[in-house]
Amino acid sequence: MLVGENEASKVYVGAKEKTCKELGIYSERKDLPADTKEEDLLILIEKLNNDPRIHGILVQLPLPKHINETKVLYTINPSKDVDGFHPVNIGKMMLGEPCFLPCTPHGIMELLKRSGTNTNGAEVVVVGRSNIVGKPIANMLLQKNWGNATVTICHTGTKDIASHTKRADVLIVAVGKPKAVTADMVKDGVVVIDVGVNRLETGLCGDVDFDSVKEKARAITPVPGGVGPMTIVMLMKNTVQSAKMHGGIEV
Ligand code: NAP
Repeated sequence: MLVGENEASKVYVGAKEKTCKELGIYSERKDLPADTKEEDLLILIEKLNNDPRIHGILVQLPLPKHINETKVLYTINPSKDVDGFHPVNIGKMMLGEPCFLPCTPHGIMELLKRSGTNTNGAEVVVVGRSNIVGKPIANMLLQKNWGNATVTICHTGTKDIASHTKRADVLIVAVGKPKAVTADMVKDGVVVIDVGVNRLETGLCGDVDFDSVKEKARAITPVPGGVGPMTIVMLMKNTVQSAKMHGGIEV
């Protein structure tokens, strides 16, 4: 579901729709006008909650200001919450129980795993504490049976951010500020995950100054083409998992 005319959101929803098609996953796209009433959106979600053909519901964020985002996310049936934003799924993630994991941080965990980055006992520094990236990735990384890392979270209240980022074996940046992390803020051999997507006149860029930091990094994700595609992959994974669960197939 896409409410309004946010250009970035249109691109994200289009990419998700395209990937569904490529994988043979049935999808329905609902484009709703910016002045859609909150009540009407909630009614639509309830309909999809009760539609046996639908196993995953995604409401693209951000929503127009007159719609209460929390109320919308709470209305999605947790068993169809393939974005992993419902408090039931967030709570289960915190407890280390099986659940739908939020797609961007889950994609980061997959990137770390597949690039052979061992986080066990590593110093991980996360810059940014949003509910969709910073907090959940920090949580996944500190789980004993998963990341098992020592995790520091930085935000706008942090004094001397560079003193933390310089310690990082793995640095994850999700602040939404173009090139906020520069080479003097990292140590040699660091693994950098750049979550940021900033639209400049010259094109897209991340939250990390890629050209300078890459000279010191053992590995670094590009923007575009790094974390973004992984977010979509994990959304598809959650959707397939949900279809199996709803169809009574063991997962
Ligand atoms: P957000 O909700 O705006 O949160 C930004 C966080 O960064 C906040 O916790 C804020 O601190 C912190 N912050 C901002 N400026 C800072 C600074 N100068 N120093 C230290 N901390 C700072 O952002 P988000 O939703 O997590 O998104 C972050 C970026 O990732 C955006 O560019 C977004 O487009 C991108 N993103 C990409 C994907 C993907 O799939 N590739 C997915 C999600 C987001 P306070 O809490 O103190 O305000």
